[in-house]
Amino acid sequence: MAFEISGVQAIEVLDSRGRPTLTVTVSLADGTVAEAGVPSGASTGTREAVELRDGDASRFGGAGVRTAVGNVNGELNAALSGRSWASLAEVDKAMCDLDGTPNKARLGANALIGTSMALARALSVSGGKPLYESLPGITGQAQRMPVPCFNVLNGGAHAANPLDFQEFMICPLGAPTMAEAVRAGAEVYQALKKRLAAGGHATGLGDEGGFAPNLAAPEEVLALIVASIGDAGYATGSAGVGIALDPAASEFYSDGGYVVNGVRLSSEEMIARYGEMVDRFPIWSIEDGLGEQDPEGWKKLTAELGGRIQLVGDDNFCTNPAIITAAIADGIANAALIKVNQIGTVSETLEAMQVCHDAGYGQMVSHRSGETPDTFIADLVVSTGSGQIKTGAPARGERVAKYNRLIQISAQNTALPYGLGN
Ligand code: PGA
Ligand code: ZN
Repeated sequence: MAFEISGVQAIEVLDSRGRPTLTVTVSLADGTVAEAGVPSGASTGTREAVELRDGDASRFGGAGVRTAVGNVNGELNAALSGRSWASLAEVDKAMCDLDGTPNKARLGANALIGTSMALARALSVSGGKPLYESLPGITGQAQRMPVPCFNVLNGGAHAANPLDFQEFMICPLGAPTMAEAVRAGAEVYQALKKRLAAGGHATGLGDEGGFAPNLAAPEEVLALIVASIGDAGYATGSAGVGIALDPAASEFYSDGGYVVNGVRLSSEEMIARYGEMVDRFPIWSIEDGLGEQDPEGWKKLTAELGGRIQLVGDDNFCTNPAIITAAIADGIANAALIKVNQIGTVSETLEAMQVCHDAGYGQMVSHRSGETPDTFIADLVVSTGSGQIKTGAPARGERVAKYNRLIQISAQNTALPYGLGN
């Protein structure tokens, strides 16, 4: 259905870490007004679409986004307003063409994704449908409620502790419903807090709302989480609560090796270490187990563990359909992390998910460490039916907003099945 955009406006606001980001408002000629908040990462892949920062050291240490805001209010508003469009995809393509670079470096991926998300939301409001019903979705993947992967313990670039692995997630794989899954996540989170406190550990939080105790050995953390799942009264594994890791290994890769807890490991040793962890603990998914700098290691990792667990590419894939297509041909990973701002438009995000689906690769929809209360990704994961989302701990407003939106969707549409799917 054709529509006319009457205005696109952005302002500079703060994200959940107190760093600048944008909210973008799109107005349609029919009077609809909708807004979106732009997420921002800390452990970014080198081939992500460019997040435009001002570099003016006198404001926010150079992290201001006034240039991106100016690009929305200036060029994008002028190019998109006052004419008729056929679809979100057509507008997204026009924005990419206007930018003219391969990685959104001129207008900024933050400017483009905010506009794209706000337009998608405006179209859902204008059409009188919830966002998850209005988004285009994926061919061959029906809508479903996803397994929420709660990041309950933070390290790496997200916390000031000695832990090299960035994210330890609990995933209620066996929960009967969305609401029960969120309840399981919250109960295990509270049990973990008690256990940490009883062990004399600090229970302060990292950027994504997980605890950030002074622990360094990943195996010690895994044992604590398994014990906490039991404390909360849940089984471990596919019938209960499983564990997913995002070591974000690009961050601790240097000079051809992985430095974990002070010990340098080769790619093969790192893979063997993961193999032992998978033997000992109910780990069903590992994201960025090796660095984006190590494609040969990734091939070996996939050959060794790809038949047993999900291996998710994030830093090395950057939600980029072309990069993922090449990686699939190379036998790298068996799933992709999906972050809308890594590629810069909603349409290209959907394209990346379609590429994954067509190759039998999983898709885990994801927030960023810098977030706003925007819940767009909750609707995105339901509409695409990818069956899995990670959006931080079951704590802190900007994380909980997404989980609460999922509960709301499942309450409004009880026919949607819960779980990973195939
Ligand atoms: P980021 O981390 O949002 O800080 O990049 C998330 C991730 O690595 O998955
Ligand atoms: Zn990651």
